[in-house]
Amino acid sequence: MAEHLSLRIINMQESATLKMAKISRELRAQGHDVIDLSIGEPDFDTPQHIKDAAKKAIDEGYTHYTPVPGYPELRKAIAAKLKRDNRLDYSFEQIVVSTGAKQSIANVVLSMINAGDEVLLPAPYWVSYSAIADLAEGKSVEIPTTIETDFKVTPELLEKHITDKTRLIIFSSPCNPTGSVYTHAEMKGIADVLKKHPNIYAISDEIYEYINYTGEPHTSLASFSEIKEQVITVNGFSKGFAMTGWRLGYIAAPLWIAKACDKMQGQITSGTCSIAQKAAETAVSTDLTPTYEMVKAFRRRRDLVYGLLNDIPGLKVNLPAGAFYFFIDVSQHFGKSYNGKAVDCPEAMSAFLLEEAKIGLVNGEAFGDKNCIRLSYAAADEKLIEVCKRLKDALSKLN
Ligand code: PMP
Ligand code: GLU
Repeated sequence: MAEHLSLRIINMQESATLKMAKISRELRAQGHDVIDLSIGEPDFDTPQHIKDAAKKAIDEGYTHYTPVPGYPELRKAIAAKLKRDNRLDYSFEQIVVSTGAKQSIANVVLSMINAGDEVLLPAPYWVSYSAIADLAEGKSVEIPTTIETDFKVTPELLEKHITDKTRLIIFSSPCNPTGSVYTHAEMKGIADVLKKHPNIYAISDEIYEYINYTGEPHTSLASFSEIKEQVITVNGFSKGFAMTGWRLGYIAAPLWIAKACDKMQGQITSGTCSIAQKAAETAVSTDLTPTYEMVKAFRRRRDLVYGLLNDIPGLKVNLPAGAFYFFIDVSQHFGKSYNGKAVDCPEAMSAFLLEEAKIGLVNGEAFGDKNCIRLSYAAADEKLIEVCKRLKDALSKLN
């Protein structure tokens, strides 16, 4: 009966991150010793004071439907956070809280893209950007970048890909999957291009804002006041507060875009979970010590894995300045094979590594890159050490 499904779903790519996590989970359930570094998820639990706020919310009767864009108290707390951390001025009406930043992005894209509109995606990009753009019948236009330029898009490259049909650009800094962080000057370069094209909008995905090892303050694209009306800032609670399962994300945007997202969400999910929202209010308005403790651990692990990866012949890696991923160029191994099976692309490489080394890494093609695979280092040191050992052993078997 699958032929009765809509073309929309038939043509949709399954999320490569979630697919690899699912396969790893299933293999483990069957007794295989798989170490899964596919999904980007902090291995820490949500900080205690946030959990306590959720328990209190249940006891206080926060168990009903919520306003579609979120409780006003939470939206006000987010507006205060944007002022505190990002020097951005938004009224609470400009904030829409959703069931994860993934939904926030989908709300915006579905609200702004008509069939055939072009959506610029500096590549590598997070897997769901292109799938969501496709869902909206937009045309994803990849802007390729390379490891040599730390996978960052330049104003010239951006300008070169703009056409009459360009409507939106979507990118993240700190970046999933590359860990690259745009400096203030680089962000200004992007803002300058947008300024020349007032009909083009930008989704600035800042969900890894806190996971930044540069020592420089995070730069929000919307902080360039001349283009603020063209920017939709996306953020969420999954990464910085270790709240992936709570499903909480938000946008800050021009009021007309926020209203459109409210309308979209009102027909699809309604307001997100009442209890999660009360927990988020605490997370966003209390001290960030637990977040910075996690970031310290991520940074230490980054250095650990960087050293281990550099010790493996035939790999190329950049030193990620943020987030918790390595996007490893494995292309020097393409053309080799193992047991008669060719390893000639990232998909074949991740399949080989799962089968032979029992490690779960995500194929870079899903992120718009033909040379790399992604490793998430949001995991315990022992696991990271073991994965790098298995990776080295497995690659040495290719010939
Ligand atoms: N944007 C980026 C860049 C991400 O890595 C993720 C991963 N979860 C999301 C958005 C969505 O996050 P969530 O839906 O968990 O808030
Ligand atoms: N954003 C995370 C990742 O890239 C979580 C999985 C997902 O939603 O894609 O792995």
